[in-house]
Amino acid sequence: LAKNEGRNDYRLFDSSLTQDAQEWLTMEARLRKALQQDELEPFFQPQINIRTGQIEGFEALARWISPEEGLISPGRFIPLAEQSGLIEALDLQIIQKSMQHFADWHRQGLNPGILSVNLNARHFQNPALIKTLQDLMSQSGFKTEWLEVEVTETQLMTKPEDAIQVLNQLHDSGIRIALDDFGTGYSSLSYIKRLPITKLKIDQSFIRDLPDDSEDASIVRSVIALAKHLGLEILAEGAETEQQINFLLNNRCDRVQGYFYARPMPADATQLYLTPEPVRA
Ligand code: C2E
Ligand code: MG
Ligand code: MG
Ligand code: MG
Repeated sequence: LAKNEGRNDYRLFDSSLTQDAQEWLTMEARLRKALQQDELEPFFQPQINIRTGQIEGFEALARWISPEEGLISPGRFIPLAEQSGLIEALDLQIIQKSMQHFADWHRQGLNPGILSVNLNARHFQNPALIKTLQDLMSQSGFKTEWLEVEVTETQLMTKPEDAIQVLNQLHDSGIRIALDDFGTGYSSLSYIKRLPITKLKIDQSFIRDLPDDSEDASIVRSVIALAKHLGLEILAEGAETEQQINFLLNNRCDRVQGYFYARPMPADATQLYLTPEPVRA
């Protein structure tokens, strides 16, 4: 009897404790189903050359369009996907759909530029990664030189030697590589030197308080200088105001991705964004 009581107490205690875990499991099951039922879509956010004003490309950002809840942001499902092993399938779905849109836009005579896709470092353990990407490209008519993969600094550092090997293979096959959220990880400069990176994306946390925060201003200036000296492209993430754009222009940052120019948009809005306005008489 005592034993049973004890067990009941324990279960009561336990079930309240695991409410988060229950929600997590429910969400995981829903996400798995969402992937099967094709509820994830790429949104596209332009990367603008702030010297010329031209669109250089777009980053594809996953959105879950849930029939019950509507639009769900990556903050709610990417961590879940990472921990439940769904991230690889998710990334590939977003990549496949984005490539299809890009190839369609090209066929329509539009010029969307470079497609940047987020690639979780788990893919580095998959020996078939390059082949998979190449198959996706040839299925949609997407050209290798249009592709850039974004890897976060933090993820790269979990298994640096694997990362170097896979990134070299990607680079050798003609794919560009961007280091995402730069400044938030802990990669050393000697390590960065060894990676075949083509672009640094300064994390938005350093841009948010520009131009007033003098520490952020110094950091951003230094990162821009570093990128220039290493011959890397440089992009600032998360610029929202004209003052931020002016700071970046004055400090020779060439590219921006931020709400100041556009928020991530669904494919149909992206197509309109790319379509020149009709000339009116
Ligand atoms: P990220 O790759 O660093 O993407 C940039 C994030 O900054 C996006 O958030 C974008 O909407 C947001 N952003 C851009 N400009 C501004 C701005 O001016 N102000 C503010 N406040 N935010 C801005 P989002 O779309 O919520 O994505 C969050 C993160 O989720 C991404 O950060 C990326 O790490 C991850 N993620 C999104 N889609 C995928 C995917 O398909 N695969 C993987 N593995 N991760 C993804
Ligand atoms: Mg990114
Ligand atoms: Mg980022
Ligand atoms: Mg981020």
